[in-house]
Amino acid sequence: MVKDLNNIREDFPILNEIVNDEPLVYLDNAATTQKPRQVVQALENYYYHDNANVHRGVHTLAERATEHFEAAREKVRAFINAASTKEVLFTRGATTGLNWIAASYGEKVIQAGDEIVISYMEHHSNLVPWQQLALRKGATLKYIKLTDQGTLDMADAKQQITSKTKIVAIAQAANVMGVINPVKELAKLAHAQGAIMVVDGAQSVPNIKVDVQDLDCDFLAFSGHKMLGPTGIGVLYAKEALLLEMPPIEFGGEMIDFVNLFDSSWTDLPWKFEAGTPDISGAIALGAAVDYLNEIGMDQIQAHSHEIVSYVLPKLQAIDGLTIYGPQDPAEHTGVIAFNLDGLHPHDLATGLDMEGVAVRAGHHCAQPLMKYLGIPAAARASFYFYNTKADADRLVNAVLATKEFFKDGTI
Ligand code: PMP
Repeated sequence: MVKDLNNIREDFPILNEIVNDEPLVYLDNAATTQKPRQVVQALENYYYHDNANVHRGVHTLAERATEHFEAAREKVRAFINAASTKEVLFTRGATTGLNWIAASYGEKVIQAGDEIVISYMEHHSNLVPWQQLALRKGATLKYIKLTDQGTLDMADAKQQITSKTKIVAIAQAANVMGVINPVKELAKLAHAQGAIMVVDGAQSVPNIKVDVQDLDCDFLAFSGHKMLGPTGIGVLYAKEALLLEMPPIEFGGEMIDFVNLFDSSWTDLPWKFEAGTPDISGAIALGAAVDYLNEIGMDQIQAHSHEIVSYVLPKLQAIDGLTIYGPQDPAEHTGVIAFNLDGLHPHDLATGLDMEGVAVRAGHHCAQPLMKYLGIPAAARASFYFYNTKADADRLVNAVLATKEFFKDGTI
């Protein structure tokens, strides 16, 4: 059954908070989303009724905890349409997943003279691991340019991806300018040159339907907390054939088959990569988050973002002195809009908005090379999710106008 978006705000008690004497308008969803009761209840149920370590005990609670933990893996598998749960690894988040790829696949495959291709719009989590791998190995890191509209320059992508390329790593949805990148096409370009395709799905998996088999990506990393789940849990999807060849990254309990005094062997996928006690409650609650998203439907979530961005973008564009980074066409945006107001530091702008109860993020958004590329030190960013309304969008516009008026004689 599809949930009615008009009634879902009751599931998110935090949306009733009062901030600076105003009802909260939470527009920092690209940083982390709020959690519905169903997700918090999954945590509570687990700790009140099922808490035990997984894959170890033969007692009933241990079996129950293992069953729920592995059921969550199956929910995630179906959500991204992976071929098997062997391909779904629980991590701490997108950052951990991307680091694991660099530390395991990258360490094994990359050699001096090889090339790794990313873009100027990458989050530091999909940049620094590749930069450091390239430095360690004497490989070259190459950047795909952006168009004037802030989208990926696909003509340049075709130039940058060559027979020397071993890894292409790109965000499917950008965290600053909100564009969706054609990762399916990039995967084709990468594969044609014998390279693998890594997709940073931190901003896409929460917002659009992602099908790893359709994209034909080799890896997809994402975070639970940006899709209604708790912090501390994330997922790395990888094709089974690659995981079979990759060495584990961490060693210890849960990931071994046999341990001898001077050598050891590894257990099956996916557990070979999950050393130690995992975030059991986090995984189970992520499963509840996936259930919740499925009840709404990713198509409805995407359509809602489009509707709200189509509503608010022209209103923001009409504000004198306000610059919006990235595409000016709502059709090319996820729910993310980055902007600056002339003469005002984005931190002052965000503080002004907070005074009106409107929560946005300001700063470099973990994308310093992008800020340099755009020639700005920082930006404010409003990011909408399916529980935001047009009234929230109006509150943002009015708060920007009020802040502009407040600072009209310069910052104090
Ligand atoms: N990639 C992108 C595009 C992101 O937006 C983020 C989070 N801001 C990350 C990676 C890293 O996610 P996490 O901090 O949850 O590991």
